[in-house]
Amino acid sequence: MRLTAKIKLQPTPEQHAALLKTLETATAACNDISQQAWESKAFPLCGCIDKRNRPSQSTFSCVSCGFSAPADTVAAWNIRARAVVNLTGVGLPALAGSR
Ligand SMILES: [Zn+2]
Repeated sequence: MRLTAKIKLQPTPEQHAALLKTLETATAACNDISQQAWESKAFPLCGCIDKRNRPSQSTFSCVSCGFSAPADTVAAWNIRARAVVNLTGVGLPALAGSR
C-alpha cells in the first residue's frame, strides 16, 4: 500500500531566504561537478591535468604516470572528489566511505 501526502510549504520570510540560499548553493555545487565531469582531463591519483590524458572519448590514459582506465571510471573519481569538497564546504556530511 502506498500512501501519498500533499503538503504546502508556508515558510516565514527567514525560512524562505534560507531555503533559497540552500537551493542556490546546491545548484552551484551541481553545476561545478557537472562542469568538471565534462571538461576535466585530470587524473586524481597523481594530479596530472593534461588534455592528452583523453586519447579518445572512452579512454583515459595519464601521460604522466601511464595509468589507463575507462574514461567514465576516472570521471566518476573526479566527480566524487569534487563532491566531497563541495559538500563538506557547505557544512554537509562527507560521502560515506570518504576521508
Ligand atoms: Zn598520472
